[in-house]
Amino acid sequence: MHNIQPNPIIQSLLKAREERWLNKLALAKHGWHVVSLQLNLPGYPKNNETTDLFVKLIDKQFVRFLKANILGKYKEEKKSFIDKAGDCVFYLIPAKGIESQELKELTERFEERHRLGRIIDLDVLDTKGKLISSGKSKKCFICDEPAHFCRKETRHPLEEVRKAMLEAISAYLEKERMQNCIKRFSSWAVKALLYEVTLSPKPGLVCRSSTGAHSDMDFLSFINSISALTPYFQELGWMAVDMQGNDMSQILPLIREVGLKMEEAMFEATEKVNTHKGAIFLMALSMFSAIRVIYKKRKFKAGIFAGTVQQLTKGMIQRELCSVEEGSRMTHGESCFLQFGLKGSGARGEAEQGLPTVMHHAMPFIKEAEISIEAINDKNMFAILAPVLLKIMSVNNDTNVLFRHGEEVLEELKKKSVSALLEMQRGDQMKYNELVEWCNSSKISPGGSADLLSVTLFLNFCQTDKGL
Ligand SMILES: [Zn+2]
Repeated sequence: MHNIQPNPIIQSLLKAREERWLNKLALAKHGWHVVSLQLNLPGYPKNNETTDLFVKLIDKQFVRFLKANILGKYKEEKKSFIDKAGDCVFYLIPAKGIESQELKELTERFEERHRLGRIIDLDVLDTKGKLISSGKSKKCFICDEPAHFCRKETRHPLEEVRKAMLEAISAYLEKERMQNCIKRFSSWAVKALLYEVTLSPKPGLVCRSSTGAHSDMDFLSFINSISALTPYFQELGWMAVDMQGNDMSQILPLIREVGLKMEEAMFEATEKVNTHKGAIFLMALSMFSAIRVIYKKRKFKAGIFAGTVQQLTKGMIQRELCSVEEGSRMTHGESCFLQFGLKGSGARGEAEQGLPTVMHHAMPFIKEAEISIEAINDKNMFAILAPVLLKIMSVNNDTNVLFRHGEEVLEELKKKSVSALLEMQRGDQMKYNELVEWCNSSKISPGGSADLLSVTLFLNFCQTDKGL
């Protein structure tokens, strides 16, 4: 039996709808076309946290769409509100600028183009209070029949439609969230690499003012290389989102494939000079891990990030370095490990141990010194970043140095870095300048430390993320 008593929910819904309508009419009379944005969500309540976020996002997209299509005729006059009838935004478009029919066509184009356009309802009311119709019918969210037909025939249970719509909205919001995260984090990876090479002067390393200990590369080689690496960070980010399950041990070869593409792009951009091989390895792992943390935990956490790097590279030294036989054709990394053991495990060792130089030295150093990485500008960059580089150099067993110059020179470099840092903290740069001079003239290039500076910077940028 039907309940003939007035349903309070329906009553309040009808009341809200009537108020909306009157509001719209009043606005239209002031010379505006009124476009209203609302959702076609059946059932109650008409809004929740998810729909609020969704309407906010659609609102942003629609404003951008209006600006792009009727530039100058839309002055961002709008009214947003939530009532019993759900989330709603009114856009006021000066009637002088555009015909109501043209506006209707635009709103339909927006709906048609949008992945969830079937949930979005954009109505146009002209200045006479007339609802503009194009005669077209929206398709049903579940099947491809006209929506009004399915509604009339109640072809799908209301709860089924509502559930499907809410799920689609959630999935859309999640994808949007990750897309934005991946863009932000990719830009930080690039920014970290750019900051590292920009820091000048540096001991033995390529920088803005000098090629350091190098004669085959300069500042522009690095800019060219970083530009070539840029698109791949997004690829790594999506890999972290699309990864099925939690078994990190299977992922390394996939990351390496992207890493190898990055190396190819680097060599092409630099005419076969190795500017970033070590940085590619560490930054590719870092980008993947950072996005994985954000995807899983919704917020960036440095400890979990380092743990993820560690899981990804678990057993790597044993697998890749311990089995190398003397006399066979070896890479620098393999040969260094064979000669110096764990001390010569380089970037692999750093990764497998969960980035100890970054996590236990560089990051606490930044925290203690209350250095604000976000506030870096051209004037204070040296004062902020040179001590961080020195801190890294003072503890890092840099295989670039170890391999080419041996253990004694590495220890000498670490010692000199300690004293240059101490002096710098007392306000004197003399020992730093001497260190730069010594490295440049002796052709000592602590490239491994430069890579770790990039990772440290990236990690700092990630920590400022609000997890939106
Ligand atoms: Zn249908």
